[in-house]
Amino acid sequence: MSQLMYTPIEDIPKIQGDVRSGFGSGKTKDIAFRKAQLLQLAYLIKDNQQRFRDALHADLGRPPTETDLFEIFVTLGEVRSAYDNVAKWAKTESAAFSLNWFAMSPAIRKEPKGVVLVISPFNYPIYLLLTPLVGAISAGCAAVLKPSEQAPATAALLTELLPRYLDPTVYRIVNGGIPETTKILELPWDHIMYTGNGRVARIIAAAAAKHLTPISTELGGKSPVVIDPKCDLKLAAKRIFWGKIANAGQICLSPDYVLVPRTFQDQFVAALKEVHDSFFPEGPRASDSFSRIVSEQHTRRLKKLLEDTQGTVVFGGEVDVEHKYVAPTVVRDVTERDSLMSEELFGPVLPIIPVEDVDEAIAIINRHDHPLALYVFSQDSKFKAKVFDNTQSGSAIANEVVIQAGAHGLPVGGVGPSGTGYYTGKYGFDMFTHHRATMDSQGWLDWVLGGRYPPYTAGSLSL
Ligand code: NAD
Repeated sequence: MSQLMYTPIEDIPKIQGDVRSGFGSGKTKDIAFRKAQLLQLAYLIKDNQQRFRDALHADLGRPPTETDLFEIFVTLGEVRSAYDNVAKWAKTESAAFSLNWFAMSPAIRKEPKGVVLVISPFNYPIYLLLTPLVGAISAGCAAVLKPSEQAPATAALLTELLPRYLDPTVYRIVNGGIPETTKILELPWDHIMYTGNGRVARIIAAAAAKHLTPISTELGGKSPVVIDPKCDLKLAAKRIFWGKIANAGQICLSPDYVLVPRTFQDQFVAALKEVHDSFFPEGPRASDSFSRIVSEQHTRRLKKLLEDTQGTVVFGGEVDVEHKYVAPTVVRDVTERDSLMSEELFGPVLPIIPVEDVDEAIAIINRHDHPLALYVFSQDSKFKAKVFDNTQSGSAIANEVVIQAGAHGLPVGGVGPSGTGYYTGKYGFDMFTHHRATMDSQGWLDWVLGGRYPPYTAGSLSL
């Protein structure tokens, strides 16, 4: 497995300059070029599927099935959709018909914003780097990609592969940690897309403001689940628990905490225990279907949150910092002021807050930042509508978790502190596209528009 080499800081401005020259050549605007690059990207992923699985196993102890599901298939789906639709998306669009304006042929040209920067996190290091790239390529942009140094094996593999498959004069990778990223952020970009946490997003936003660079931020937060006793209990427990243990809970869309009617808590907890035992018959530690935490630092963070909780650990609770292992853990009778409610958990720990009714659940959700996702498990359409109508979140999903990220045609994005901007599919194309207004007026139109010229006379405009 290749070693991750950080890009020398002094090389970073030259890399950006080279990519800018590449963009200046105009080649990325050609639809045939965009399609050829998208095809190459598909080959990059397909040809190297096993190497990606191995890299993710090295970085996160990730089971290969999860890499296939969450990285390979979804990213390939994005490439395919862009390949099939890019010509249509990029077509100049006529403005809506207006009798007053149609003679000037008002239209919207879809133009690439230019040279864009994509900064991505460790948790889905293929999907979260390459899906924005799909948007950039299809929009006709050139791009510099900054993978997470926290997933070094995957970053090293992408660094090796990208120039072998894609045109290196317009698509480049820069590697590094904070000093390298700080240098990258000093440079002017035409758009920055950042995926990661809210603290760093503020650093990115401040750096972008210096150049008035537009940014999109895909962030996280505490995505709640609201349980209605009128739900399919076994299915709810299975899906929620899966959403919590997949990638060891390191998913931006993971259900973070559950709001359950107080009288229903026992039943719900028992159902979770059943699911746990069926997922991990030999225990999660021995299972090759369960990932590890990305770093000792994050493992220690989770350990401390668990040590400080006032809730009751139902099962799990074991933490081994050296091996970056946190057992799938359910904690019941948690309150809003608990350590487990103080930050996004981003680990396989599920706090359960008992509530009196749906109104209390809604009030708790609304006392927190707008989350990236909000989940409701219910068979009652009025219950679902009540929760969705009285809250805000990036996505609002009933009876399912996490997989909305891969659903064709849906935007992926947050609201407020969980992010700004949307992507995937056509939304990704739009993120990196400038909608340039265009008109072509005819001289004879002054016959009707001549009244705009001075000297003005009363009634010169017959509107
Ligand atoms: P991370 O530690 O891998 O950091 C993300 C990126 O920020 C990296 O490329 C890193 O080099 C860069 N970075 C870190 N510190 C920096 C600094 N001081 N200045 C400039 N750049 C810096 O990942 P993370 O941020 O811990 O990722 C986890 C977070 O991302 C969670 O909050 C999760 O919810 C969120 N997330 C959101 C989405 C989404 O689509 N909305 C997807 C995945 C993860």
